[in-house]
Amino acid sequence: MEKATRQHTKEHNRNLVLKNIFQHESISRAEIARITRLTATTVSDIVADLIEVGLVSEIGVGRSIGGKNPILLNLVEDAKWLISLDLAHNQFRGAVVNLRGKIQQSVTLPVNDRTGDEALALVFEILDQLIPSASQPLLGIGVGAPGLINTSEGLIVHSVNLNWVNLPLTPLLKKRYHLPVYILNDSQAAAIGEYTYGKDHQADEDLIVINVRHGIGAGIVINGLLFQGDGGSAGEIGHIVVVPEGGVLCRCGKKGCLETVASAQALIKRVRSLLGQYPDSPLAQVPHEINLETIEQAFKSDDPLACQAVLETAHYIGFAISNLVGILNIQKIVLAGDMTRFGQPWLDEIRTTMSHTSLAEVAQNTRIEIGQFSENGIILGASAIMVNNYSLLFNH
Ligand SMILES: [Zn+2]
Repeated sequence: MEKATRQHTKEHNRNLVLKNIFQHESISRAEIARITRLTATTVSDIVADLIEVGLVSEIGVGRSIGGKNPILLNLVEDAKWLISLDLAHNQFRGAVVNLRGKIQQSVTLPVNDRTGDEALALVFEILDQLIPSASQPLLGIGVGAPGLINTSEGLIVHSVNLNWVNLPLTPLLKKRYHLPVYILNDSQAAAIGEYTYGKDHQADEDLIVINVRHGIGAGIVINGLLFQGDGGSAGEIGHIVVVPEGGVLCRCGKKGCLETVASAQALIKRVRSLLGQYPDSPLAQVPHEINLETIEQAFKSDDPLACQAVLETAHYIGFAISNLVGILNIQKIVLAGDMTRFGQPWLDEIRTTMSHTSLAEVAQNTRIEIGQFSENGIILGASAIMVNNYSLLFNH
């Protein structure tokens, strides 16, 4: 019993040291001891172990404010690689990523409306290509997938577009590739990716990432940890009803969900419905070519139809954010996904609506920004969930 506790303490301390090395570009043993409140001897012993397994290296001498100049340590970012999968778009993408989130190589395959077993075969195809190509030891496979996910059992409970119901993806991949596998909801993955690899994020901070694409979801990070809720579906804001009366039917079966008025798909539908009111719009000249790209072009040349439709979607996102911050009071909100292409005017409308519909004190202290990793956010998140598992990093 005592031995088990000692082992547990040792692992806990080692994870704490590793976390600090990970969170700093470089750091000295003394600084780690100061932050973690571990003794200098404990830190030295742990660092020696980490250097021995090749995860950490000494990179030279830092400046001292008196006394001996400290030796700086850093993470050996290519000590281990991992495989990340983004299954949230109409093309599946897989990448080999290092411990600092740098993509080494990637494979993209179009989904072309494949669902069920055919979509699963695409996942295998990507992994079959990527895994043999990795020249460093692999930590595991991280997956960001759309829909309701049971992370602890590695189960895709329901992914509407892919027609996956209770698909045991983790067990299937473990059996085929003999590697640890972690699976996460796509928006939750984007959140933990932004937190881990994004610039200017403080250690252990709170953060919400709102992913606005064909669907809408949020990932919530509290004290540096992903908050998944009791059923794993925390952040499923796409199906909060924002048009309680007379709303449009949603793919979930309810009416007036946020997705029906603020997603990329909703925007395309809204533009089509407004064509009659704006016969002079360039979009009205090419009604069969209305998609995000053509709407973006029209929006950037100040077409009144595109502006009205885009800003309406932004208004609903702002409203949803005011609900989120009203409940959670998280002050840092990051927007990700296809709809961020509408840039500053879209962001300004979101901010304005959030301000008008929140308590003044809450609104004043809430910052809403567009994220840094639009295309790679989910890939980075799927790898971050493994990198943040410090025990896996040391033992595997
Ligand atoms: Zn819905």
